[in-house]
Amino acid sequence: MNIIQIIEKKRFNKTLTKNEINFFIDNYIKGEVKDYQASSLLMAICINGMNDDEIFHLTDAMIKSGDTLDLTQIKNITVDKHSTGGVGDKVTLILTPLLASLGYSVCKMSGRGLGYTGGTIDKLESIPGFRTDLNTSEFIKQVKNIGVSIVGQNKNLVPADKLLYELRDVSGTVNSMALIASSIMSKKIAAGSDIIILDIKCGDGAFMKNLDDARCLANKMIIIGRRFNKKTIVHITQMNEPLGKMIGNSLEVQESLDFLDGTYQDADLKTLVYESLKEILGEDYKRKINDKISDLSAYNKFKELVVSQGGDIDLFSNKEINSKVYEYKAETSGYLSEIRAQNIGQASVNIGAGRMDKSDTIDYEVGIEMCHKVGDKVNCSDVVLKIYYKDDRKLKNAIEEIKLGIKIIKSKKIPEKIILDTIV
Ligand code: URA
Repeated sequence: MNIIQIIEKKRFNKTLTKNEINFFIDNYIKGEVKDYQASSLLMAICINGMNDDEIFHLTDAMIKSGDTLDLTQIKNITVDKHSTGGVGDKVTLILTPLLASLGYSVCKMSGRGLGYTGGTIDKLESIPGFRTDLNTSEFIKQVKNIGVSIVGQNKNLVPADKLLYELRDVSGTVNSMALIASSIMSKKIAAGSDIIILDIKCGDGAFMKNLDDARCLANKMIIIGRRFNKKTIVHITQMNEPLGKMIGNSLEVQESLDFLDGTYQDADLKTLVYESLKEILGEDYKRKINDKISDLSAYNKFKELVVSQGGDIDLFSNKEINSKVYEYKAETSGYLSEIRAQNIGQASVNIGAGRMDKSDTIDYEVGIEMCHKVGDKVNCSDVVLKIYYKDDRKLKNAIEEIKLGIKIIKSKKIPEKIILDTIV
């Protein structure tokens, strides 16, 4: 067997065997399969796809490229959660302490922002002192003690995915169902939890632009989960418009705190948080969640998580914010028909809330506050959103980007549902 035969086989749309897939992953990790050969095979996979067996073998080979977490010492049911990435998506910050307050154990590895989509690790690092680099034993010990920990992706887990993802990023091969499903599921399965909750974003601001593609990806992930004996729950959710009110790191942490103590709960965010837990908690899910919010146990669990990982929540809450505020106003009267997530996300990157380059540092204090949502009526000069910024030149770029994403029309547009489908 050699890599050229394997590439040619996929090029002619033949099914790869378990041995061929293992050969590719093992030898790519060792550096014996070169980047140009791997990218050629990835492109053939993008074009011709993979069947369910091939995707399973690819996921399995990637898992075996590194360590796996053994969570058997944790007695409660363990839950993991993953979103394919969105704008204003702070669901992890809310769902993880909520689940822990409900008696589940949440072992969560998260990523940094990618492109115009935010990342949970960057958001948490906006809390002074918060450590996202706990080692495996600290991570598991914390989950045993308080029921939740959120850390960055462990480098020893699925090293094949790290290498392949970097290669896909620069070879036009990110957007393949087989590659996305195996990439995400290998990391979730290696991380060891019993239940995996997945949020596949769909729409303008997401990898999956339409519902058919999102359903196809969801089914592939459910099939992988089943073959590894994991309960996998997928929600397909709308990402045409940013989620919730705030976009930007510390702004999103603040919105999450407001959600958890009941001060302010955006309607879409609330639906998504509550419905994400319906399958696990059963018919009585709303009452169970309401109880944990009204007695502040979910809020206190978030604070416990922060303290346990070295963060200072009082310093976070009392810190003087140095950003300036620009009010973006409606240029005409009518109904908001578009607030495009991609443009709003890009504008937040432009003012420094995300990275243009891997080496960029993030400004945690800048971001965008949505004052209206799609479907709202606005009068000329009403404030549609506020931009928290520091640099006037960056503000100018952000305003140009936002102009591309906001549309006001004469007749009312019915906003889309937030949850488009649930597949279990
Ligand atoms: N997120 C991942 O972890 N992998 C992909 O391939 C796409 C999104």
